[in-house]
Formats: sequence, structure tokens, C-alpha cells
Amino acid sequence: MNKYPRVILKSGKEQSLQRFHPWVFSGAIKEIEGSVVEGEGVSVYTNKGEFLASGHYQIGSIAIRILSFDNISIDQNFWNDTIGKALQLRKSLGLYDNQNTNAFRLVHGEGDGLPGLIIDLYNDTAVVQMHSIGMYRDQEFVANALKFLLSKRLKSIYSKSESTMPFKSKVKASDGFIFGGESSGEIIENACRFNIDWVKGQKTGFFLDQRDNRKLLGEYSKNKAVLNMFAYTGGFSVYALNGGASLVHSVDSSTPAIEMANKNVALNFPSSNHTSYTEDAFRFLANAEGMYDIIILDPPAFAKHNDALRNALQGYKKLNALGIEQVKPGGLIFTFSCSQVVSKNDFRLAVFSGAALARRKVRILHQVTQPADHPVNIYHPEGEYLKGLVLFVE
Ligand code: SAH
Repeated sequence: MNKYPRVILKSGKEQSLQRFHPWVFSGAIKEIEGSVVEGEGVSVYTNKGEFLASGHYQIGSIAIRILSFDNISIDQNFWNDTIGKALQLRKSLGLYDNQNTNAFRLVHGEGDGLPGLIIDLYNDTAVVQMHSIGMYRDQEFVANALKFLLSKRLKSIYSKSESTMPFKSKVKASDGFIFGGESSGEIIENACRFNIDWVKGQKTGFFLDQRDNRKLLGEYSKNKAVLNMFAYTGGFSVYALNGGASLVHSVDSSTPAIEMANKNVALNFPSSNHTSYTEDAFRFLANAEGMYDIIILDPPAFAKHNDALRNALQGYKKLNALGIEQVKPGGLIFTFSCSQVVSKNDFRLAVFSGAALARRKVRILHQVTQPADHPVNIYHPEGEYLKGLVLFVE
């Protein structure tokens, strides 16, 4: 039993929680008994007084993010158990004691029953990213659980939530170390080495969600000329070179990203046929002169909200049209969308329209997604955010 303020739902609004959906929308709430501070724990009850779940309260359309469907206290034991289960899953995926891969996503929000919390582990450094006030307030519990579970392996915990917290909230997060102080490090992923700068880098420092897709690219790269658009720190580029590509070009509009991409290529290959360009992707592609066997299109999320969906789909259409136009006959396009609001079908339709614009024959070879350390809660399908297609272009 716990003693959290009680939130009573309107009659008939209990069904989604009974089906383990991890959120309560503000419109479902009939009454909050007592006063609640934003980010605090609350317990949710049916209109008839039956316990449903406990979670973090927040002002906004998603009012409660559920942490437990059992009537328990959200105390240190809860955090140790829940993050412990997430770690157990990664161990069973072979990601924990693995000589070839020592970086993985340890907690993937709703996918690990912890809405609002992301934890990426870069060998000995955990980068935690909070997307809700409640998670930010409970940061200390999260840090303690990490120290308890990872013990000797853990050297630093960096908290990076300044840009991910709800911006209307009075609670302001600041980025910084909550344990240790290593500001960058080296990881290994499928035997490829990468420098990661979690302090200055984008997101938590590296896009771990492309691990399996980078591996697939490596398998297709032998003797191929590869163009890696939106290359960031060169993830796909290093795998392409590792797979025997004859030439790799990396393009990104960010200077620090390209500098790191060059560093990462050099870390793996003292000499290589890699060239990088700090340039806008659309401009670069428009002048690409059809010399590539494989083109990777991995742009940032074009839509972060539903109201940007139309423009985002136009963006994917235009980008894919350019890529498909430019690839050599018999070539491949690895195309992705990481926008959560763009469905698998929307994305496929946008790519389809791009193919039609380019007037090329296109077949889908692979339909890919995020790896197993980014699990999708079946009751929260929105958690499946990464969509990718590998296209064969005649
Ligand atoms: N494929 C990468 C991740 C890409 S993230 C990996 O596997 O690590 C998206 C990247 O697109 C970011 O590095 C960002 O700097 C870059 N970007 C954003 N807008 C761009 C544009 N218009 N032209 C080129 N790069 C862009």
C-alpha cells in the first residue's frame, strides 16, 4: 500500500489502464484528492474506488505517467527492481558482457515500464535523459539504482535533460554529472570503435538505435561507393569501410559532428578512402552526379509534433526522390525516419511518392526498425519510432 494523493478517474475511463497503457490523459480525470506538486507520485483509482496504478503527475495533456500497476511505494527498491529488470533483458540479449559491443540503451522509456526515462550506457558511463518532471525529481533514485546494479563497471553518470524537459514547466533541469566526471570516452560496437562526447554531442552522444542497421549496411558495402547523408559522427561510414567499401563520403551540416566522424574513421582505419563534407544534405544530393552504389538517408526527425506532419512527409518525399534519382542503377538506398509521429505506413507512402517523382523502378529489400535494446511496449505502440527501408533501385 502507498500513501500518494489519490486521482479518481471518470467512469468508463479506467479501461486503458486496465489494459496497461502507461499514460492517463488529463481529460480522464474526475478529481484529485488533496494537493499534488508537479512531478510527485499519485495513485489512480476508478470512480468506484478500485486501485488501478501509480505514477508521476504532471500538468499537461498527459497528466500521469504510470510506473506501477501494483499498489506499491515508488521507493529505492522499486527503482532497483525495475532498472534491474531492464538490465537483465540487455544481459539476455548478449549486450552486457560482450567483447564486441559495450554500449547499449539500458532503459527505453515506456518500453521498460519507465515513461519519461532514457538511459544509454557507454561502456562505463551512463547518460540519463529525463522527459518528465517526475523522472527529474527522482533522478537521485535512478542514480542510486545505477550505482547498485552496475557497481564496479560504472565510472560516471551524466544527466542531460536541459533540452528534453517539458519547456513550460517551472522545474528547470541543468545538465551535469551526478557521479564521476568523464566527459567523453571510447566505445566498441560490433567491433567498430567510436569516440563519444556525451557532453557536447547530440542527444545522449550517439545513435545507438542504428546499431543493427549499420551492421546490415556493412554486409552490403564490399567494393561499393557509399554516400552517408546526415552522417553525424560517422556511424554508418565506419561500418561501410569495415565492410570493404571502395569509397565513403560522409555529409553533415554540423562541423563538430563531421570532425568527430573524421576522428572515428581514423580510430578504426589509419588510412582510408573516406572524405567528409560539412554541407546541407539537400544541396549536396542535388549535385551528387550519380556516382554512388549505396546512399544512406538518416535525417533528424522532420516532425516532432502532429501539426508538423504534412511538412515532414513532404520533406521525406523530397529527400527520397533526390536519393533515388542519384543512386547508380542496381544501387541501394538505406532510408530512415525517426519521427515518432510519422507512422510506418506514412513513411512508406512518402518514400513511394519520392520513387515515383524520381521515375525509377524501386523494390523494398528490407523493412527495418530499432534494435532489441529499444523495446516497444505492446500497449504503447508509439514507442516504435524508428522506421527504415532498404531499397533496390534499377
Ligand atoms: N546516421 C547517424 C545519425 C544521424 S542524426 C548515426 O548513425 O549516427 C541526424 C544528423 O543530421 C545530425 O548529425 C545533424 O547534424 C544532421 N543534419 C540535420 N539537418 C541537416 C541538413 N539539412 N543537412 C545535413 N545534415 C543535417
